[in-house]
Amino acid sequence: MPIRSRAALLLVPLLLGGLTACADAAGGTALDRAQNGFASSTTVGTTDDGLLTAADGYLPDGAGVSATDDVPAVTDLDPELRAAVQEAARAAAADGVVLRITSGWRSAELQQALFDAAVAEHGSVDAARAYVLQPDESEHVTGDAVDVGPTEAMYWLARHGSDWGLCQTYGNEAWHYELATEPGTACPPPLTDARAG
Ligand SMILES: [Zn+2]
Repeated sequence: MPIRSRAALLLVPLLLGGLTACADAAGGTALDRAQNGFASSTTVGTTDDGLLTAADGYLPDGAGVSATDDVPAVTDLDPELRAAVQEAARAAAADGVVLRITSGWRSAELQQALFDAAVAEHGSVDAARAYVLQPDESEHVTGDAVDVGPTEAMYWLARHGSDWGLCQTYGNEAWHYELATEPGTACPPPLTDARAG
């Protein structure tokens, strides 16, 4: 797997840079930050097909994108999830809170690159899976998950997201939301982390 290894190696300095530059209140590892678009470089890594780009769902801008933006990270989300996030974002705006999508749909190639970097950072596949799932189990690859920001928007969605069925599903990822309840009903308690799924 030389190509994958190379992708992971390219990612690590990028991720560490992101951690140094973005020591904000959101918490999380360097990898979480890159996954959430905090990394500043437009180059995530490489695959057999070349660079990972916006077509893979990569969002180079640390500020994320609007839920109505015309980029694959948003347009390739499950339509029901996308509509729910758009409605939530409108309601948040009415409360004076800007809700952005920092990561949405991801190609399997982008997910693999993120996973490889997590293995490199955390030292084992099992440890990495607490933070990033492999492509065949990630809800981001199927378009069924969004990461939101900034921190104020995470808090807003934690209080109001269930109005649209949006729930935080992993206790260690305050930014990660999925459709997980009937709109207007309480969210199930989040799993400890992605490994518990
Ligand atoms: Zn996520």
